Amino acid sequence: MDAPDALGSTAVRETGTPLVRCENAARTYGSGPGAVVAVHGLSCVISPGARIAVVGPSGSGKSTLLHLIAGLDRPTAGRVSHPGLRDESESLARHIGVVFQGPSLLPPLTAAENVALPLRIDGVPEDEADVRAGAALESLGLEGLAGRLPDELSAGQAQRVAVARVLARGPRLVLADEPTGQLDRETGRQVLSVLLGAAEELGAAVLVTTHDPRVARELSVCWYMADGRLIQPDSRTAGPTGPLRRHRGGERR
Ligand code: ADP
Ligand code: MG
Repeated sequence: MDAPDALGSTAVRETGTPLVRCENAARTYGSGPGAVVAVHGLSCVISPGARIAVVGPSGSGKSTLLHLIAGLDRPTAGRVSHPGLRDESESLARHIGVVFQGPSLLPPLTAAENVALPLRIDGVPEDEADVRAGAALESLGLEGLAGRLPDELSAGQAQRVAVARVLARGPRLVLADEPTGQLDRETGRQVLSVLLGAAEELGAAVLVTTHDPRVARELSVCWYMADGRLIQPDSRTAGPTGPLRRHRGGERR
């Protein structure tokens, strides 16, 4: 059994070289009396293979934290680094896949083109990009929808295409911002299940933000956010049972 690490109120266990390290990272929007502190200085690490749920109500700073971790936004104080992801020849974006909150597919492109586009931007030849996009769609059970435009997809299908787009690049860290927020319970469960299953195959770490405790239960570690503060790291010391066990492989020590 693991004892929860107690490296301060916001620390989590650290195993090997972390993919991401936040050190007193804060993000304030605006300045002066109207400034909004979306994330107060927080410290945490994401280790290879981690399965982390970030749970908190709307407005608690989950998306802001996710964008800081992704390197899409910069802290206004403190530091976010990616010691286990930096590679001099490749950009950070190559290793971190983000499933955004809400619709994110490009409307004029088909599902397959949406999935292939980041690969093409990475310099993958067109034929190979198409094959990898097809395989990613297939792994999510979407092969029949490859030629459809985003408008012709349900919310759940579109979110699965967004997951396929991330997984096709073979990221080492998947960040999903309320990936089930717009979906009914069963569809949400399926999307999360394929995301975790595919991440397992890739050996990727996963961080999912959610306000749904059912979603959080599918991941082995839960961080809570309230009013921009990350609180109460909770390692699931008892270990998962049933179908959760297969997601636990990444929870290395
Ligand atoms: P969550 O994802 O948990 O709903 P967010 O990170 O989106 O929370 O927002 C945290 C706080 O920061 C909220 O008070 C929100 O209104 C504020 N906020 C988020 N983005 C911006 C922005 N671009 N400009 C000003 N305030 C923002
Ligand atoms: Mg959000």
